[in-house]
Amino acid sequence: MTPDGPPAPPRGAAGARTVLVLGGTAEARCLAALLDRTPAAARRALTVVTSLAGRTSQPRRPDGALRSGGFGGADGLAAWLRAHDAAALVDATHPFAAAITAHAAQAARHTGVPLLLLRRPGWTQGPGDRWHWARDTADAARLLADERRRDDRVFLSTGRQDLAAFAGLGQFCLIRCVEPPGPVLPVRRHVVLDRGPFTVEGERALLRDHRIDVLVTKDSGGASTAPKLTAARESGLPVVVVRRPAPPPGVPLAATPEEAAAWLAAHVDADLDAPRP
Ligand code: NAP
Repeated sequence: MTPDGPPAPPRGAAGARTVLVLGGTAEARCLAALLDRTPAAARRALTVVTSLAGRTSQPRRPDGALRSGGFGGADGLAAWLRAHDAAALVDATHPFAAAITAHAAQAARHTGVPLLLLRRPGWTQGPGDRWHWARDTADAARLLADERRRDDRVFLSTGRQDLAAFAGLGQFCLIRCVEPPGPVLPVRRHVVLDRGPFTVEGERALLRDHRIDVLVTKDSGGASTAPKLTAARESGLPVVVVRRPAPPPGVPLAATPEEAAAWLAAHVDADLDAPRP
């Protein structure tokens, strides 16, 4: 892994086209794997670079090239796209990674590099679900702070970056995250470090062993962390679901890595071998 990925191809040369995938999700890894298997990649006409924020100590390595660490805002990202003469940018970050998503939209606007947002669909409420939608994590904490919920045992599965919003809760909180959380946490807590995919059986056991009364989740979508919702439904538990931030307006959207690969084929592969201006 390098801070800046592969060296930039000389501008104006008929070299490889670079696609930058802003990653950190299973969908980003899947897209990188799909692109890395294309004929264009095989004949080195296409370089796929996945970018990670660099905050996970042992990230799952994607196929293709990898860079790690922030770009230094939208301007830094725009500079990277220009320096690598990028043919396209795919924002395949987590639906709640709002800052990098805003920077990607800004950088694409400034550079003219085509941008695609790869976002897995959110979860949908089904029969038997007892969901309460929250505008954001602060709103979720307000719902839990309700006097009628003061004896509840809460399962916070929002990820470590959002835990500070719940620090004022008096209830017992089971906290599950991939990396150790920061210092601002609910006082009565138990922390479990674990990373999906999870199973319904495992989630059932967790809810039972910790005598959980209410689950808190972000609307992350996807199959790997959905079993907690199934387990909550089976037990008739209420779930506080934090709504996603709105995607930037005007950016085309793909729901699956396959859709994203098809979009890239239309936007990048067509001129892969065309002489560069
Ligand atoms: P964020 O708040 O939108 O981003 C904060 C800063 O981190 C960005 O301004 C950017 O720094 C850097 N950054 C984020 N993603 C990056 C990437 N893929 N490559 C390079 N720099 C990146 O994002 P976040 O919520 O901290 O999430 C960080 C990463 O973890 C994302 O890649 C996301 O997909 C993944 N993730 C997030 C969540 C979540 O719930 N938020 C859950 C699972 C995975 P600069 O401004 O310096 O460029």
